[in-house]
Amino acid sequence: MDSTERLKQVSEQVRTCNKCKLHLSRRLAVPGEGPANCKIMLIGEGPGFHENEQGRPFVGASGKFLDELLKMAGLERSEVFITNVVKCRPPQNREPTEEELLTCRPYLDAQIEIINPSVIVTLGRFSMAHFIENGKISYIHGHPQNVNNRLIIPMYHPAAALHQPSLKEVLLADFTRLPEFLRKKPLNVDEIESQEEKIPKNEIKKEEKKDNETRQLSLFG
Ligand code: URA
Ligand code: SF4
Repeated sequence: MDSTERLKQVSEQVRTCNKCKLHLSRRLAVPGEGPANCKIMLIGEGPGFHENEQGRPFVGASGKFLDELLKMAGLERSEVFITNVVKCRPPQNREPTEEELLTCRPYLDAQIEIINPSVIVTLGRFSMAHFIENGKISYIHGHPQNVNNRLIIPMYHPAAALHQPSLKEVLLADFTRLPEFLRKKPLNVDEIESQEEKIPKNEIKKEEKKDNETRQLSLFG
């Protein structure tokens, strides 16, 4: 079976999956889409209202913004694979639970294994956490990390940026640098300092509070 067929097989499994309780409230599962032979994958959080209706990733307001961001980076949607860490919409766009993330994880891992992208752009905290434990998005956004020989580029979620003008500038700046990151070979991990160590505890608390406030504005488009 070639990689396009294997990818299709994963999509079919996702569309009929009932492994976690998100299947009870979803309309359509959203496996993700894009060519099997692409070099770049973008991974969001989970389907929102429009994605759930259409069964396609990033087709709402966040998706429109994502298209703009991709264009700025000189990329077309048709040349990247776009998916999410959970494939079914959490009710009211709430955060996915630990259990849902864990249950859905094998689908994303299978997609990554089949596509074998050299670059993965994570959109938002949950996607980043799939690859980088204990990362703080406010510190490592726009800083490529080498994980298992792949370049993981943590970015803010487009929906968060739509709700917070200051983040919009940051996201635009990070995407503008994407072509430069794509030209680089996977970075030497030593080039990336551990940002965590430098952050005083009270700063982390402040950032977490900010994250929660952003969440209340809804992280989904
Ligand atoms: N937000 C996401 O994280 N994923 C989508 O597919 C749409 C909005
Ligand atoms: Fe299955 Fe993932 Fe949907 Fe849960 S979110 S039902 S694990 S596809």
